[in-house]
Amino acid sequence: MIDFELSETQKLIQQTARDFARSELLPGASERERKGEFPAELLQKMAGLGLMGVNVPERFGGTEAGVVAYVLAMMELGAACSSTTVTTGVTNMVAEIICKFGTEEQIRAHVPKLVSGEYLAGAFALTEPGCGSDAASLATTARRAPDGGWILDGTKQFITSGAVAGVHVAWARTGGPGAKGISAFLVPAATPGLIVGREERKMGQRASNTVSLTFDGMKLPPDALLGEENRGFRIAMVALDGGRLGVGAMAIGIGNAALQAAIDYAKERKTFGQRLADHQAIQWMLADSATELDAARLLILRAARLKELDRPFTREASMAKLFATEAANRVCSRAVQVHGGYGYVDEYPVERFYRDCRVTTIYEGASEIQRMVIARSLLEE
Ligand SMILES: Cc1cc2nc3c(=O)[nH]c(=O)nc-3n(C[C@H](O)[C@H](O)[C@H](O)COP(=O)(O)OP(=O)(O)OC[C@H]3O[C@@H](n4cnc5c(N)ncnc54)[C@H](O)[C@@H]3O)c2cc1C
Repeated sequence: MIDFELSETQKLIQQTARDFARSELLPGASERERKGEFPAELLQKMAGLGLMGVNVPERFGGTEAGVVAYVLAMMELGAACSSTTVTTGVTNMVAEIICKFGTEEQIRAHVPKLVSGEYLAGAFALTEPGCGSDAASLATTARRAPDGGWILDGTKQFITSGAVAGVHVAWARTGGPGAKGISAFLVPAATPGLIVGREERKMGQRASNTVSLTFDGMKLPPDALLGEENRGFRIAMVALDGGRLGVGAMAIGIGNAALQAAIDYAKERKTFGQRLADHQAIQWMLADSATELDAARLLILRAARLKELDRPFTREASMAKLFATEAANRVCSRAVQVHGGYGYVDEYPVERFYRDCRVTTIYEGASEIQRMVIARSLLEE
């Protein structure tokens, strides 16, 4: 059965996110981004609205509204401030994977704090200076301490919220080479031996926090292990399947905002005695952008629904993330074009949308990696 109607719960989450995005996120978004100002207060307000654990069970403090509701929220938030939105997305993802793979004690220790705003954010520490796409070759090590705990050594790169998170999920090698020798660990902030690097100076999303993390003989207790020893790579892959939906949805939000800005501008600006909106070349740009964003939205909603039904969705998530993020980049580029020279200066918001959107085809698996995932699943069938 195909039903394009949203449930009452999904509508409620969408409306809550939309209202908050328009009234609270949008007004200061450009300024925060320009100054690189982390949106701590806003994140806490969003936690109060249930937006940090949209797909987290109520018994752990979450909203339990499902995956479709989550991506709808990410679309609304992304349209206003994608720095805040990516931070929200990673926190939701971290809360979800602790719920899925953690023990009752681990869940109780961290998830209520993640979803309530007691922790400003959660962080996901997989990428390293020597490996991003090829995450299974990571070099950080975790060895057993005499007391049964763990000692971690290594460096993580480009970690969203790395300097502000209450808890990090970090991956390290506990066994042989490749994916089968990797384990996942819960690392609370301020663990001795956890060294936070300087903040990256990014092209866009500058109000999000991106740092390197060094583990220098960092000691963790035995119960820091998330899931089973040497089985942690699967946790990362499961998390990324869901994370890709969040990034794809956020990109659609950025694209929607860029398209709306282009429509508004095209109705105002006159050239050759006509509104830009009356030139067919401009109309076609708007039409292509609207069509591509709509197609992206359907792909994201389908993959989100499959996840919600607990059905396989890896290929669909990769297709949705690939298409949505590439479409959103095209939409933002066209929006700058429609604005002419004004699209290139920060008096108008489209230059921010263009910069903010660029990273969406890179993180949570670059476009090339999504194509590898899709092709592998086609060829294995
Ligand atoms: C702002 C920001 C925030 C981030 N946040 C996080 C985070 O919170 N946690 C985290 O763990 N990581 C994070 N990352 C890291 C991000 O996921 C990686 O940058 C990404 O996975 C790409 O890895 P890389 O940069 O090492 O590029 P590389 O892996 O070196 O790839 C370089 C290029 O080559 C392509 N490529 C690589 N292998 C192949 C191949 N086999 N075939 C064809 N093309 C290939 C890639 O697609 C890419 O275009 C973040 C990155 C940024 C920029």
